[in-house]
Amino acid sequence: MKKIIIANWKMQLNFTQSVRLAVDYKKMKTDSENELVVCPSEFALQKVGEILSGSKIKLGAQNVFWKNNGAYTGEVSAETLRKLGCKYVLIGHSERRQNLGETDEMVNEKIKAALKVGLIPVICVGETLEEKKAKKGKAVLARQVRKALEDVKLGSQQLILAYEPIWAIGTGQAIEPNEADEQHYYLHSLLARSFGLTKAKKACRVIYGGSVDAKNSQDLLALKYVDGLLVGGASLDSGKMANIK
Ligand code: PEP
Repeated sequence: MKKIIIANWKMQLNFTQSVRLAVDYKKMKTDSENELVVCPSEFALQKVGEILSGSKIKLGAQNVFWKNNGAYTGEVSAETLRKLGCKYVLIGHSERRQNLGETDEMVNEKIKAALKVGLIPVICVGETLEEKKAKKGKAVLARQVRKALEDVKLGSQQLILAYEPIWAIGTGQAIEPNEADEQHYYLHSLLARSFGLTKAKKACRVIYGGSVDAKNSQDLLALKYVDGLLVGGASLDSGKMANIK
């Protein structure tokens, strides 16, 4: 499977800025073989999708709800995202877990809803600095992955785990490559435990997120167990993004 680079624009851009950046992305010259995905704000999904159509860049959403329709003010269903042209959806980002109380159970429901309509979930997991210092990082990852994947069956679908240590997000302090490889190996082993080794190898990727930039991306992407990158801050500049490969 190709390595994948996912741009998470978060809530950093208004509509006009999103359109402008999508146009810049489409013009971006990159010799990279990697798959590129853009996750704009929900209000810009349709327009960004239109701008990127005909390019190799794929569309992703930043969130999804687990019900199909009904009285759920402010939410959006997986089916709607699919119809808007999304191929991927971020689920369980630490900013949603921390600011909005998104739980492991909600993450699990969202993953099932996404898989049901053929969206590829990008499931974010990661430990805080306190948990890392207390050497509880792996236990946190094990819990998050086990609960996220409870009763999740993979047929021909794919899924992505995004390892995003919270201490590395937006801090300018990315993980060291040797630590990244160790953590990613561990996450691959958790996936193998959930789905079996063959299925996990075929259908799952484990990507890294947290202060990725043009300087550290090559070293991270060269790692055996790192299947791609999730990029926040640096993804807001198409010049930087073109050099993340
Ligand atoms: C993120 O929050 O998904 C992220 C990777 O952010 P940054 O690259 O800015 O650390």
